[in-house]
Order: sequence, then structure tokens, then C-alpha cells
Amino acid sequence: MEVQAKSILSGRSLQYWRIAQILVGIIGLGIFFALIFFPEIGIHAFWNVLIPVAPALFVVAVGLWRNVCPLASTSLISRHLGLARNKKLKPKQQARLQLISVILLLLIVPLRHTIFDTNGPATALIISVLALIALYISFRYDWKSAWCSGLCPIHPVEKLYGRKSLFVLPNAHCKSCVKCVNPCPDSTPSIHPLTKKNKTLSLKIAGTLIIGGFPGFIWGWFHVQDYYNNEGWEHLILTYSYPIVAMLITLILFIVIKKIIINKYEILLINIFATAAVSIYYWYRLPALIGFGIIPGDGMLVDLTEYLPYWSPILLQILTTLFFAWWIILNKKETASWVIRPPYIKQK
Ligand code: SF4
Repeated sequence: MEVQAKSILSGRSLQYWRIAQILVGIIGLGIFFALIFFPEIGIHAFWNVLIPVAPALFVVAVGLWRNVCPLASTSLISRHLGLARNKKLKPKQQARLQLISVILLLLIVPLRHTIFDTNGPATALIISVLALIALYISFRYDWKSAWCSGLCPIHPVEKLYGRKSLFVLPNAHCKSCVKCVNPCPDSTPSIHPLTKKNKTLSLKIAGTLIIGGFPGFIWGWFHVQDYYNNEGWEHLILTYSYPIVAMLITLILFIVIKKIIINKYEILLINIFATAAVSIYYWYRLPALIGFGIIPGDGMLVDLTEYLPYWSPILLQILTTLFFAWWIILNKKETASWVIRPPYIKQK
């Protein structure tokens, strides 16, 4: 009973969440317009501030992001206003959307080197396209089933990294649960991309791809440079081949180990691969942000090479890797749900 009481947001606490959603939405809009009218600022704000913060946020408090993500709030406007059609997706359709979301992620991310990392309006365009798709499918289908827990290309990463939340927040979008998706990633403790609760083939493929392939994919991605002035289109094959080949190597490794080990170690294996993915990301990303990147200038927010000792990036790399290994693998914290499930109601 106590959990249910806390799960219903109302009055002042609901207002606070709405204010937080509006504030994050305004920041999101600010970045969006900066990408178009002040591309240099917009690119730094989006690719070199917002995106580098996101994986760490997914690791420690993915529910917070799920509650305030501007794209989620945009996509759910029709539902909040009571205009959505609330069509139910069949489990197979839901699973297919999740497989497409992994494929979208793997297709879009390499294009950062080709165009998005260096071209503000192009980044604004892809955000607009994703926002329109999110708006349309969330208007047609029930709650978060089609976008936030379906087609959103960030969702597979949330499920991979969001293994242990620092705190469990109320659900700031769903006032009541209509079981729009099963299992609900927000409300199911211990959710991960290969959850046994949905055995659809598409979900198995999506889960295996993201868990096994993502560490290699990220490693390969960081070994390709950013291209300027449309030059990237000439290097498209190279841009994709590095992350895809590295992805196949870790994917095969994951599949082989998973076949060998006994079932009770499967979660440990998933946690190790999740840790590897997020650690590799920050291993390369943090030094690049302060000017120590392996490809000079790429992804640099501020050049601190003259002010920091040469060993500072190594210290950052060791500390972040130790932190993620502790948080995701060693920490005995219960794997709680991202947010509290609101009370269930039967939809008419
Ligand atoms: S809490 Fe219920 S309504 Fe909300 S996303 Fe999860 S399953 Fe859907």
C-alpha cells in the first residue's frame, strides 16, 4: 500500500515534475535552435555536453532521464491531452520495434563522423525527424509502447546500462498503468535487454546485438575521425566498417561465452558487457573532451592539454572504469525498477 501511495503523483509533487519537464524541454529547444543558428555552440552543447552525460545518467538514475527526456515529453503530449488513439501493439510488433531501434542506433551513430558531429543543421534535422516519428507513433499507439519503450534508438542503451538505479522515482508520465508494454522497462525490477519475460525472436536478436556488440561497436567508433565539409560521404565504408567489424568480434565473444556458461552466470555476463561498453565510452570520451583524445580536436569541449599533467587522462580512465565495474558488477545493490509502477487500471 505504501508503495502505491508514493506511486501516484499529484498536487505539488506532480507540479514539480511538470516544471522539471518544461525546464528540460526549454533547454532542449535552446540547443535545437543553437544547432541551426549558432552551430558551433549547438554542437558543443549537444554532442559534447548532453550526450557525454547521458550514459552515466543511465547507469545511476535512468528513471530520472525517462521522466524528463524532452523527446519523451514531446511524444506523450497527445496522450497527456487525451488526444491519442491508444492502440495496443501486439507483443510481436513491440519486439520488432525494439529490434528496429537497435538497428537505428547502429545506423545513426556512425553518421556522427560523416556529418552530424560537424554540422549543426544536419543534427537539428535528424532530431526533428525522430521527434516527428515519436509524435506520430505515440499519437497512434498506447502510452510509451511505440516510442519510449519501442522505436527510440536510445532505449536499448537505457536497458543495457540501467542495471542498478541510485533511487526509484515516481513515474512522472503514467498516472496509472494500462500495461501498454509487457514487460514495462520502467517498472520491472532487474530489466535487461535479454529479459526472459518476452521470448520473441526479434527481442532475442535485439538484446544479443546490443549486449554483445555494443562494447566493440563503441571501441570501433572511437577509432574513426570526424569529417568536415561533406568529405565524410567519401569515407562512408570506412566509417561503418570499424564499428561494425569490432562489434562482430565482441558479439561472437558474447555468444560463445553465453553458450558455455551455466544459466546462473548469465546476469553476471550481461553486467560485464554493460560495464565494458560504458567504460570504453568514457575511456575515450573523457580525454577527448579535454583535448587528450586519440584523434586531435575530435569531440573536444575545452583544450586543457597545457594545464593538466600528461597522466590526468589515464587517471580519469582508471577511475571511471573502476566506478562502473563497482556500480554495475560488484555493487550488491538490488536491481530495482527505474520508476515506481503506478496503480493498474483496465482501459475501456
Ligand atoms: S507504467 Fe504501465 S502505462 Fe506506463 S509505460 Fe509502463 S506499462 Fe505502460
